[in-house]
Amino acid sequence: MDAHAERLLETLNENGYEAFVVGGCVRDALLGLAPKDWDITTNATPDAVSACFSSYPQLTQGLRHGTVTVLYRHMPYEITTYRTESGYTDHRHPDEVSFTKSLREDLSRRDFTINAMAYHPKLGLRDYFGGLEDLSRGIIRCVGQAQARFEEDALRILRALRFACRYRFTLAPDCAQGVLALRVLLPQLSPERIFSELTEILTADDGKILLQFAPVFAKALRLENTQGSPDFAKYVRAAAQVPEMADRLVLLLWSVPREDLARHLQALRCPRRILQLVVNRREAAQLPFSNADWPLWLIQWGEECLAHALRIAGALQSWDPGCRRTYETQLRQAVRSCPCTNLSQLRVNGRDLRELGIGPSAGLGNLLQELLLTAARGRVKNEREPLLELARKLWQEKAAE
Ligand code: ATP
Ligand code: MG
Repeated sequence: MDAHAERLLETLNENGYEAFVVGGCVRDALLGLAPKDWDITTNATPDAVSACFSSYPQLTQGLRHGTVTVLYRHMPYEITTYRTESGYTDHRHPDEVSFTKSLREDLSRRDFTINAMAYHPKLGLRDYFGGLEDLSRGIIRCVGQAQARFEEDALRILRALRFACRYRFTLAPDCAQGVLALRVLLPQLSPERIFSELTEILTADDGKILLQFAPVFAKALRLENTQGSPDFAKYVRAAAQVPEMADRLVLLLWSVPREDLARHLQALRCPRRILQLVVNRREAAQLPFSNADWPLWLIQWGEECLAHALRIAGALQSWDPGCRRTYETQLRQAVRSCPCTNLSQLRVNGRDLRELGIGPSAGLGNLLQELLLTAARGRVKNEREPLLELARKLWQEKAAE
């Protein structure tokens, strides 16, 4: 275990308090993974914790929940007093937090058995709810009654799916039932929170969780009318076949009319960068690939977008693998043979054209685009002289019109 965390436990022990590392770090260490952070739980009150570490910088914004963050050798360690929670009126935050002397009580408020273990280097593992066995069997199980735990805090619904995806675990039967039954509480969570959980789930899932819990995704993505429709089932099956998160979003949101897609993603609080990818790929996935114009499309969409569009269209339309490979080969060949796909690669620019007496007008931009496309198609060399000559010719033709 982490030497700094061990040192912090010792300090608390020397001052007469119990202390354990707890939660995610215990779970990850038992799995042989490197924990992201080491959280500590203790029977010392926040004031006592603060006093034990008075010579170290501390952050106190978690104090209301009993958490003191100690900066130890430049690393933050969250030290939280044993506590219980009660009364979750908003299905997210406890109305009341109270401190307790019992480690067992503290562990019983935690969400899943695999997250409810504590460890001390001398005292060993504290595992009151069968976390170790669930960990070794790959099971996500609620501490206590699943329905009740999801009703208390609806975020646990998405956390269950997130841990299942991350570790390739399965949900215990009552946990799976609870997740499906209480998905109706999801709209009570903040959209930011939902989206960030979804991001991790859609990135890590091998497809199984999407298929098993499709109605949860419909709810989380605010697809009220499509829940249970045969079309949505088809989009989910397609989404399960593509590995990338943005591609999955394109497919899961296929029932949203294209003109509403950007607004829908905004309402989900999708970050701008991902929103742009999803909107572009949705459009590109509807291109007529059997009648492709690769040079034009490379200019309009770019190689990466087209590669994803092929995956999306292939999954949605169940192309046979040979068909997809053919298009992918065509795309690669087009990329290789295309001398330029954007204006910065074109060997003439606006200034060159103005020197020829062209523009300044809207016509100049169009002319540059036309030169770019002609060069991309290989019908003129991407070199200064031939391009200028073509520009002159096209401009004269325009003038004569
Ligand atoms: P991660 O690796 O994603 O950080 P984690 O298990 O460490 O996973 P945190 O959100 O950092 O998750 O929470 C730390 C611990 O606090 C959890 O292991 C769990 O014991 C408890 N916990 C966190 N969120 C909840 C919740 N919504 N309900 C109950 N217990 C929770
Ligand atoms: Mg954590």
